[in-house]
Amino acid sequence: MRIEITGREDVLGIRADNPGPLTLEGTNTWIVGSTDIWVVDPGPELAQHADAVAEEVSARGRFAGIALTHGHGDHSDAVPLLLERLGPVPVIAGLSGARRGQKAGDMEVVSLPGHCTDHIAFAHEDIVFTGDAIFADSSVFVSPGAGSLAGYLAALGELRDRGPRLLAPGHGWLIEDPQARINEQLEHRLNRERRLVEAIGVGHTSIAEVLSVVWDDVPDYLLPAATVTLAAHLDKLHEEGRLPEAVERPVIPEWVV
Ligand SMILES: [Zn+2]
Repeated sequence: MRIEITGREDVLGIRADNPGPLTLEGTNTWIVGSTDIWVVDPGPELAQHADAVAEEVSARGRFAGIALTHGHGDHSDAVPLLLERLGPVPVIAGLSGARRGQKAGDMEVVSLPGHCTDHIAFAHEDIVFTGDAIFADSSVFVSPGAGSLAGYLAALGELRDRGPRLLAPGHGWLIEDPQARINEQLEHRLNRERRLVEAIGVGHTSIAEVLSVVWDDVPDYLLPAATVTLAAHLDKLHEEGRLPEAVERPVIPEWVV
């Protein structure tokens, strides 16, 4: 399906048909530009989706490049499919060393780690393509590791202070009031941390106990994702010297980070 932005013919979203617990209604691929066309997050390996994106790019202008918010397969697996259909172009991605301020056409790389270490965003005028950093109606998972959650919270704050008019995420709907939504998510994370500290304080130390007490609003099928975020919270508390030894730490699958 197509996601149009009123008054902005230079940006179009095409949603891939890969719905799921973590991909919501499917991955959003964003086509950006009027003459030199960039594709943000080509999406999963689905020929039909790659065809639709390639057709739209060709109709709009010259294929100039691919911008990848992060390397997870639901965003990046279609990169070869697009290159095959439209010819070689530069791929700007955090995992290949893109850094804050770097250009991808007239878009600017914005540092936005947390969902995974190589996660970045792209600013196009007052619209920011935010990948899996923040969604309109649900939370993303934050990957564990040194400084991950703290870095995520700081980066969200910086994104808010930049004052974008619109956030175009990798899944779900456009975020029309970025400041309010970012504040809500920051509050949500801090609230989760407060409840986690409280749960640990009254003696809950196993992963199962902590999840059932602190992530009590999360349906079963999202518990694996909640476990990843729990690990990020525990890493943060550990770094801050606030984590008792007795607390069980989750083992995280490799694809997450
Ligand atoms: Zn994703």
